[in-house]
Amino acid sequence: MPSGRVLIDEERCKGCGLCIAACPQKVLAFSGKINRSGYNYVHMEHPEKCVGCAFCAMTCPDVAIEVYREKVAA
Ligand code: SF4
Ligand code: SF4
Repeated sequence: MPSGRVLIDEERCKGCGLCIAACPQKVLAFSGKINRSGYNYVHMEHPEKCVGCAFCAMTCPDVAIEVYREKVAA
């Protein structure tokens, strides 16, 4: 299983939750913290489960997510 990591731009995030619903691994969750615009932004609740599929980034209407993948030797 490949492993991945996402970088969430906390100030861009509008807290819509679409990325949480899109993630098949249930990696993402609301952080419970508020950004400068007053939105409850998302963070990696379970970073160890991320597979780098990028569904979250493709779903985000505010382009707040960058995905990094680590190559794992087969
Ligand atoms: S890259 Fe895939 S597994 Fe990782 S947080 Fe995004 S949707 Fe979830
Ligand atoms: S889809 Fe984008 S704007 Fe919406 S909660 Fe996720 S990171 Fe934030």
